[in-house]
Amino acid sequence: MTRKKIKSYPTDAAYDVIIIGGGLSGLSFAAGLGGAGISVLCIEREDPAHMATQSYDDRTIAISLGSYRVLEQFGITHFLSDNDMCPIRHIDISEGSSPVLLNFLSHDIDIDAFGYIIENRFLRRALYQKIESLDSVHLLSSTHVVDFEILSDHVQVKTSSGACFSAKLVVGADGRSSFTREWMNIGVREWSYRQSAHVCMMAHEHPHHFTAVENFRPEGPFAILPMPDDENGRHRSAVVWSRHHRKKIKNLENIGIFEAGLQALVPTSYGRIEVISKPVLYPLGFVHAHRYTGTRMALIADAAHGIHPIAGQGLNLGFRDMSALYQLIISAHKQGRDIGASALLSTYEQKRRFDNMMMSAATDTLNKLFAHPSKSFGLIRKAGLKMIQSVKPAKRFLMKYASGL
Ligand SMILES: Cc1cc2nc3c(=O)[nH]c(=O)nc-3n(C[C@H](O)[C@H](O)[C@H](O)COP(=O)(O)OP(=O)(O)OC[C@H]3O[C@@H](n4cnc5c(N)ncnc54)[C@H](O)[C@@H]3O)c2cc1C
Repeated sequence: MTRKKIKSYPTDAAYDVIIIGGGLSGLSFAAGLGGAGISVLCIEREDPAHMATQSYDDRTIAISLGSYRVLEQFGITHFLSDNDMCPIRHIDISEGSSPVLLNFLSHDIDIDAFGYIIENRFLRRALYQKIESLDSVHLLSSTHVVDFEILSDHVQVKTSSGACFSAKLVVGADGRSSFTREWMNIGVREWSYRQSAHVCMMAHEHPHHFTAVENFRPEGPFAILPMPDDENGRHRSAVVWSRHHRKKIKNLENIGIFEAGLQALVPTSYGRIEVISKPVLYPLGFVHAHRYTGTRMALIADAAHGIHPIAGQGLNLGFRDMSALYQLIISAHKQGRDIGASALLSTYEQKRRFDNMMMSAATDTLNKLFAHPSKSFGLIRKAGLKMIQSVKPAKRFLMKYASGL
């Protein structure tokens, strides 16, 4: 694993880029830049050995085809096997107890899959393996960043263990409560959805046929995401069950009651279900930074924007940030230009802000629209879904957007 690299770094070393945060976005970006010959230090406050375990993060993630292609470009998919992920070929959308009102088929837009469902720990494992294979990337863990100093041609980064490093560019990938963002004095728009999502894995009697289910309910969206069968051939899917806080969702006391509630929501085509991982509760909220950049510093992924998981797009937006910043950095590096120049950073901001705002607004509106209790809203929603189902160009547009193409 990453042990060798974590320990063997020179203090006061200079890098091209220092990434704050070794979550899924920070590690992916480090792997991408490192693979292209950029020297990178990634600083993560937790211990990677712990982060790679199932108990640290039991979630699965829907990676769109667009994000998968970024992972390919960064040389990360090489460390993922077919058994680690499951393609999404159909998406069934319904409301409450209605039948499917809108369905997407990947072959309608000439792709094999809209994306893949992968366990976060498998993606993390692949990222550690990729980083381990790169001499240009150092991962420093179990220490956190406490301060920065901006100088004319570099930034100094200070850690809780008293070490100091410098880089031409610092990238904050330190999540929703980003220390980097706060240090840059960047404000945010944020609110709580007053919803939490239970995330777990279930085994089911019948195969899922590579189908993702999105069921909009007044208390919050309910999603089923296809997973590879386990080693005993049991069919599996991941579940993200969001509910409004007025439903008094508790951390689980009785798995039997949870399982019975889940069985009632799962389409009968799945047959009998069994909950096979401990359900974990995540509070849901929105956050969007007023700026993504400052002098020699940029924010990516959740440090810049965190959205409702209703459409499984949070990290996918992060991959689009990475792709945009990666291209700018690599092009400047090849031409011998300054990779921390303010012109480069403002181009990054311009390229990403609109797309991030559109997706944030879309997921926010979708959640509010489907949570609205009035009957007339219900009729409009159903009519809207049926209309998209019958208007082919609109349907194709949405299918392409969902797959990140
Ligand atoms: C229920 C749920 C389901 C979701 N499903 C999907 C999905 O299907 N598809 C999708 O695209 N997205 C999904 N998301 C969103 C996705 O999980 C996030 O976008 C993603 O995990 C963010 O990764 P990140 O690396 O940017 O941030 P984080 O995972 O928050 O990582 C930040 C890292 O920075 C470290 N750190 C923080 N401060 C410091 C410091 N000062 N010094 C050093 N290190 C520091 C932290 O320890 C952490 O490891 C979902 C989210 C939820 C809640």
